[in-house]
Amino acid sequence: MELAWPRRCVGCERLGVLLCERCEAAAPVIATERACPRCGAPYGVLICTECYATDGPLPLSFSAAVSAYQFSGVAARLVTIYKDQHERRLAALCAERLARAIPRQWLGWADLLAYIPADRAKIRARGFDHMRLVAEHLTTLTGLEVCACLQKKGGEDQRALNREQRLRNLAGMLECVCPERVSGRRILLIDDVITTTATVEAASAVLIGAGAREVRVASVCRVY
Ligand SMILES: [Zn+2]
Ligand SMILES: [Zn+2]
Repeated sequence: MELAWPRRCVGCERLGVLLCERCEAAAPVIATERACPRCGAPYGVLICTECYATDGPLPLSFSAAVSAYQFSGVAARLVTIYKDQHERRLAALCAERLARAIPRQWLGWADLLAYIPADRAKIRARGFDHMRLVAEHLTTLTGLEVCACLQKKGGEDQRALNREQRLRNLAGMLECVCPERVSGRRILLIDDVITTTATVEAASAVLIGAGAREVRVASVCRVY
């Protein structure tokens, strides 16, 4: 594979590495201690404005969220190249960056690792479910057990929609296929990019509805 399709840096296309030192240093890391404790958005040491609407805090089904990077520059290229150019070798890199961002205490807290599944059409086109692959690498790094408890029934691409449209679109789109495994458990839910929190919120609501005790969220990137 290296001969036919040598690895290239996702930032500068340098040959031989997936992320070179220079691009790594330029990646927009989110410092957890400087992020919103609720949704993980950067620049919100206290609860951020998005989480705290004028009529009080937005009700969320997950209790906390963290993200490794802001969705820009090298980090945006990392997830985009992984998803859209099907560079599977980036799954391990995404998992490694997630493992760095997830607070150590969460690893002892979590009973199960869940992920946001891709649309069936996308899985067919890519030949793999991209967050499942990241979850499997994350299992190797953390020892957490992966559960394919969420499944998507269908749905269109979310990228061009606003938060309300996304929530409407997602209502009934995700289902928990193994409530018996989820019930009473603490679940760490991972995704590639959190844009409006609508997707992770819908997924957390499904898991809580299936009996999960608590859900926390971690993503590779966060749009803010
Ligand atoms: Zn580079
Ligand atoms: Zn927030």
